[in-house]
Amino acid sequence: MKKVLMGNEAVAYSLFINGVNVAVGYPGTPSTEVIETLKNFQDDDFYVEWSTNEKVALEIAAGASLSGARSVATMKQVGLNVAADPLLSLSVVGVEGGLIVFVADDPGPHSSQTEQDTRNFARFCNLPVFDPSSPKEAFELIKPAFEISEKYKLPVLFRMTTRVCHSNQSIEFEFKREKRKIKGFEKKPDWVILPALSYIKHMELEQKLQDMKKELSAYNKVEGRGKIGIVTGGVSYFYVKEAIKGFEDLFSILKITVAHPLDEGFILEFAKDKEMLIFIEELDPVLEEEVKLILFENGRIISTYGKRNGYVPFAGELDVDKVKYIFYKVLSDKRFLAKNTFTDVLQIPKRQAQFCAGCPHRSSFLIVKNATKDKDIIFTGDIGCYTLGFAKPITTTDTCLCMGASITMAQGLNIADSSKRVIAFIGDSTFFHSGITGLVNSYYNRHNITICILDNLTTGMTGFQPHPGTGKKIYGEEGRKVSIESIVKGIGVERILLIDPYSDFTENVDKVREFLNDEELGVIVFRRECANLKSRESYFKINKNCSKCRACLKVTGCPAIDEDENGNIFIDSTLCNGCGLCKNFCRYSAIEKVMVK
Ligand code: SF4
Ligand code: SF4
Repeated sequence: MKKVLMGNEAVAYSLFINGVNVAVGYPGTPSTEVIETLKNFQDDDFYVEWSTNEKVALEIAAGASLSGARSVATMKQVGLNVAADPLLSLSVVGVEGGLIVFVADDPGPHSSQTEQDTRNFARFCNLPVFDPSSPKEAFELIKPAFEISEKYKLPVLFRMTTRVCHSNQSIEFEFKREKRKIKGFEKKPDWVILPALSYIKHMELEQKLQDMKKELSAYNKVEGRGKIGIVTGGVSYFYVKEAIKGFEDLFSILKITVAHPLDEGFILEFAKDKEMLIFIEELDPVLEEEVKLILFENGRIISTYGKRNGYVPFAGELDVDKVKYIFYKVLSDKRFLAKNTFTDVLQIPKRQAQFCAGCPHRSSFLIVKNATKDKDIIFTGDIGCYTLGFAKPITTTDTCLCMGASITMAQGLNIADSSKRVIAFIGDSTFFHSGITGLVNSYYNRHNITICILDNLTTGMTGFQPHPGTGKKIYGEEGRKVSIESIVKGIGVERILLIDPYSDFTENVDKVREFLNDEELGVIVFRRECANLKSRESYFKINKNCSKCRACLKVTGCPAIDEDENGNIFIDSTLCNGCGLCKNFCRYSAIEKVMVK
């Protein structure tokens, strides 16, 4: 069959065709579509789930692998930090069935708190890492990734970047699944990590890396015969190909598909007749440092240009114009000055990031904001849609670090200055991901903070995946529902307040104000389903009473409310979700409900 597939879809198809038995992950852009695609496939020896976090996912995949199953754990780059503990131990303990750790890096970053280069994790963990340049290449590399994992009994990292994950390509393949017999778990002392064994296995690991270098080198390739060598990998390879169009004779390209470990002989052979080497890679100078080390250790002196001497930017994505400009800077050849350099790129007006129209989080934040009006409060935020609590006009988020950190940072802030009241905000999926342990710590150590759990009954930011609080599993079938309130009570927290952010605003403000009078540890659960999951029953419109005071616009910042060139306020009926929040701020009874017929 021939199909146009997005990079992540290509990975999913290839995983299924190549007999993956267990696929687990935690949603995170740009990795989410791998599991979203895999869930469309079914077989009697195939299982797929959304796990509560990346560490859980990788440990499930590891367990399945020890029974001989082929498994994959998917995550985004910051998710790998959460899964780093089992990954580092797995590199020493080893695996049985092929285990792929799929990690999507986000140069830019487009939808992440940090830029992070997973190739560094490969160096850190002593593991091989595949770094495909296109969806088609990603599709083709899944099979060898499983085979390498099984041959060397090691997890294999499969790193892609946003552009590869989300670009589309036509791929021709036979949709036929490889059936494998799973041999089952065999008891072995190897699976129990103990210090003495760990030392021996570390030495074995180093030997395995030496052994696999030549084999993995076959996936790297050289193109052209020019005297100027370009070392590149991932999506940067295509930027290079485009940038040197018409001047191919000047260059040779070393395309690195397996970024770690590198085979010294292959690198030296490429470098032997080159006048200089230019390193074109996104994020960290991984190829640059590895290649330079090989050159140095072999007494080879050659001019190099890359990130380390300021020719290539460390941060952000590359593109064709940026790569041309790098060649211009290195070669002082004006022919590489792009007609439209990246500095001339059309500037698109920036849109203020904000909650969707009718988002229950907008109302939850405004309830807390109003209830704490005259108080000096620090608001800690977390990762998810509700990070947007920092945006104007809500401005009720002062910190945001990583998953679960709103609760724990609040405790640190409270320890450092107990005169300050701290209120932490966290979402439902993030609470299950890594908020629970912070709450346990807060209860145990008597950190008297207030925690607001904004429960919109889904993992909204990544595309509405289910989680333990929804009780639904990946296909929408019944799992067991985990109650947030029961967890909170089970820990021992006695002060819990449940709020529907769409119900009477003034009453909710009073309830929260009263709740905050007590300075003991307390949890407020704001529960209302995500506006994007709710079918619309009504919308609101502005009537003739409007005085143009703009209060509704200024206070809520709802994108459905706007003003025309004459200052007339209007509500876009196609955007309005009927939450009724804006009505609370109109003193002129100018906002009225319209039922949808
Ligand atoms: S009712 Fe008001 S606040 Fe709610 S979505 Fe409509 S315009 Fe926005
Ligand atoms: S708050 Fe009421 S009066 Fe003021 S602009 Fe909005 S609709 Fe008009």
